[in-house]
Amino acid sequence: MGKLRSVGLALCGLWLVLSPCAAATTDASFRVYRIGDLAGPAAEVIAGRHDAAAVAVATATITPTPRVGGWWRLDAQRDVPQEPLQVLVLDLPNDTTSSAWLPGRAKPLVRSTVGLDSDPAYGPRLAVFPLAGGLRAGQHVYLFVDSTARSADRLRIMDEHAIRVQDRRDVQINTLIHGTLLALILVGLGLGITLRESDFLLLGCGLAFALLFLLDNTVDLYRIPGLAPLAGVRVVQRILGSGAAFFTGLFMLRYLQMEQRAPLLARIQRWMLAVYVFVVVVSFVPRIGLWQWPLVGNIAVLVSVIVGFIAAVKGALAGDRPSQMFLWSWLPLLILLSWRVLEINLGWPANEMLQYAFPASFVLAGVLLMIGLGDRMLQYKRERDASNLLARRDPLTEVYNRRALDERLHAAAHEAGHRSQPLALLFADLDHFKRINDEHGHDIGDACLREVARRLRSVLRFGDVLGRYGGEEFVIGLPRTAVDDACAMAERIRQAIRSEPIVCGDVAISITLSIGVAVLHDGLAGFDEAMRSADRALYVSKREGRDRVSMLPA
Ligand code: GH3
Ligand code: MG
Ligand code: MG
Repeated sequence: MGKLRSVGLALCGLWLVLSPCAAATTDASFRVYRIGDLAGPAAEVIAGRHDAAAVAVATATITPTPRVGGWWRLDAQRDVPQEPLQVLVLDLPNDTTSSAWLPGRAKPLVRSTVGLDSDPAYGPRLAVFPLAGGLRAGQHVYLFVDSTARSADRLRIMDEHAIRVQDRRDVQINTLIHGTLLALILVGLGLGITLRESDFLLLGCGLAFALLFLLDNTVDLYRIPGLAPLAGVRVVQRILGSGAAFFTGLFMLRYLQMEQRAPLLARIQRWMLAVYVFVVVVSFVPRIGLWQWPLVGNIAVLVSVIVGFIAAVKGALAGDRPSQMFLWSWLPLLILLSWRVLEINLGWPANEMLQYAFPASFVLAGVLLMIGLGDRMLQYKRERDASNLLARRDPLTEVYNRRALDERLHAAAHEAGHRSQPLALLFADLDHFKRINDEHGHDIGDACLREVARRLRSVLRFGDVLGRYGGEEFVIGLPRTAVDDACAMAERIRQAIRSEPIVCGDVAISITLSIGVAVLHDGLAGFDEAMRSADRALYVSKREGRDRVSMLPA
């Protein structure tokens, strides 16, 4: 709960920091009038014949009717100097073509976000018209702006140098954001494929579509050679938007385990996924395709996000870490998304911070979700390791059981062969153990076995293999150990067992150990033979009186 509250506070803080920026910065050097949509032939408009229809625009913001366009007039309120060069700047968040008629010019300057009229000197988010001769107070500039989507474009008159600096910063930040997203996508897809973890794949696909959607929004996508004809094509925009929504929705369904945790929410989410597919398919159908399907898609996104949010809150309150991570990652995105929707629908001027914050929050979401996924994988791995451990350990002595011992010894023999190193094998059997059981009882016998295993472990080195071969028999594998060292080690082991009696409650039991040694020099090929040799050597130790180490002559 504490975490949730801090997320809330952090976001309120972010809102407070960003909101003053939402207020439009109005340039006092000119005033803007809206003349109207398709007011008439350009020659008539620039001759001033439609000026009667002009209505003053409070903020210097231009909101053309999508695909229809509109006329505006800019009146200079004071002289704009010739030197240093001043420029009229229109911030274009969408695919837009704008034309400016400067005073005394019959031909307009045309700036397009993409295509032949695009200005290579600036990024695609700006239309920059140089005011070469300056402007005198009272002079007009007529503007015709045509955009493929609803947008609120800001008008400014500023120093040419300043806009270049700003544009360069803009390009740098966007490159950083897009590059980071691309890296996250590659990591997601790479992990998804190599780990066969479909959640990573879904996240990677969702982020990939989101990146393309962002690049479509900033029009950068259509500056890629060959893609310019796709600019403003509705089907493309719908495929990108729906793709991002589809994969993100599917990811939410899986990542938040909605099917198990909230079946009703899961059902709604699946319906929304169907809506995205439908919106894409229907946009290929002539006539019906022109209907307001994007609105349907947007509503579906809203429903999907709310449903995912409720599921995440439910999960987070139940203590599910992935759900908490999801909330952390998704909240900034949600707030910024809703802000952007308000911005567009209420005609607020594009917020300078928001322009970066929105795509940057995608990056943040991607990073946090990747961490969340990694966290979940780690959890799986821990559980698997724990169950592996249980399956591989002898429950009484906690050394390897017979099966794991075989596996480890084979691996050690294989590696020894590969590296042309010796591997020593020690067969160890407690002497007269049956008597201990008979005299002191089975429980004391068990305690002795545990203590023997503990003493064996304490003598062995890192990398040595110790397992319980059967009842009171242990087998030890010593990598990189030749005959002399193997015998010395066997002797130390024998001493470690016999040196002190094992104390169980009020009885002290003296135990001895017989050991058979064999050393393997040819890797796996000689493994079985070496095991038999060590077993026979153990038998020799027993026969010759026990409590000793033996090795068969080579
Ligand atoms: P030797 O010196 O010839 O090896 O004599 P021994 O008595 O140790 O050999 P034998 O194979 O006759 O008996 C092994 C005994 O080990 C039999 C069994 O009671 C005991 N044993 C085997 N597994 C366990 C166990 O898990 N717990 C206990 N307490 N005793 C066990
Ligand atoms: Mg024995
Ligand atoms: Mg035995």
